[in-house]
Amino acid sequence: MTDTSRRLVLARRPEGMVDDTVVRVDQVPVPVPGEGEAVVRVRYLSIDPTIRTWMDDAPGYLPPIELGAVIRSGGIGEVVASNSEHYAEGDTVFGMLGWQDHAVVGGPDAMAQVVPGEVDPTAALSVFGTTGMTAYFGLLDVGKPEEGDTVVVSGAAGATGSVVGQIAKAKGAGRVVGIAGSDEKCAWLVDELGFDGAVNYKTEDVAARLRELCPDGIDVYFDNVGGEILDTCLGQLAMKARVVCCGAISAYNDRGAAYGLTNYFTLITKRARMEGFLILDYLDRFGEAQGEMLGWVLDGKVKHAVHVVDGLEHATDALNLLFTGGNTGKVIVKLED
Ligand code: NAP
Repeated sequence: MTDTSRRLVLARRPEGMVDDTVVRVDQVPVPVPGEGEAVVRVRYLSIDPTIRTWMDDAPGYLPPIELGAVIRSGGIGEVVASNSEHYAEGDTVFGMLGWQDHAVVGGPDAMAQVVPGEVDPTAALSVFGTTGMTAYFGLLDVGKPEEGDTVVVSGAAGATGSVVGQIAKAKGAGRVVGIAGSDEKCAWLVDELGFDGAVNYKTEDVAARLRELCPDGIDVYFDNVGGEILDTCLGQLAMKARVVCCGAISAYNDRGAAYGLTNYFTLITKRARMEGFLILDYLDRFGEAQGEMLGWVLDGKVKHAVHVVDGLEHATDALNLLFTGGNTGKVIVKLED
């Protein structure tokens, strides 16, 4: 074990995309566990769009990351030293480990769960982690798809969206359509994941293509992006439709510039429901969902892609992939051995 450890801390609050001046690398001594604590060598980081929202000094569901504090992030690592009865050396743990080589867990603020060491860590961070759980509960608990429904999902080739579409198919949706940012992504959705159709929002007329692909309107719209795409989908809702507000990535780099929805009245005329949710509210139900997900993964009904970026020092680039659309599936940073 080396005696220094890197921590990526918030140097200044970003405006727009995160650049090299937003995050600073600090070298610190490898932490020593206090009473009741353990030190975890971080191996993989879950890169999520919400990290960008935590960098703003704005109210949210978690407090903003303080200037000078380690960038908050989920991750998986291995316990390398322990003074805690809850963690043994060699345990694999999942928790909010942060963008750093070593994390201290077991203190009053740090929560970490031991996970079976044999689970593929990239699957644990994607399809069986908060991403897969977000797809599962957002679609099934909030969207409540019924047999034969038309389900549309945006951010469809991303980590959450790609799983949403496949769960919808597994649950008997009549038609599943994805909205994504390239022809390659659209082809992947249809050819590999079994979506019935896909729209490239960067090159196609989204409203016209959705009218073709969803002639009876949209019963469930799972929104990952907000903005103009949300508005377009609102305009094509079927009677009693459900709109699942999962995320609004189109607005995260500039939350002051909210998009003015013009098709909002469709909620009234179609007696539709639009509802947001946070996966944090479902933590105690992960077990039931992971069991069902495992069945689908083993049956080949749910496939998942991961986009692995090597090196803690590239965590910012990895985050930016989410905003440029450079990823297909879940973005994960793999730290050096
Ligand atoms: P992801 O979908 O893997 O990556 C984000 C994708 O969004 C990119 O690949 C990009 O694909 C697309 N995108 C980026 N900017 C866009 C824009 N301006 N307009 C349209 N599409 C854009 O990320 P994820 O982790 O699965 O997260 C997806 C969404 O779920 C995010 O909004 C996230 O905040 C939300 N989320 C919510 C919860 C919750 O508890 N509610 C939990 C987890 C995630 P293209 O190539 O298609 O542009």
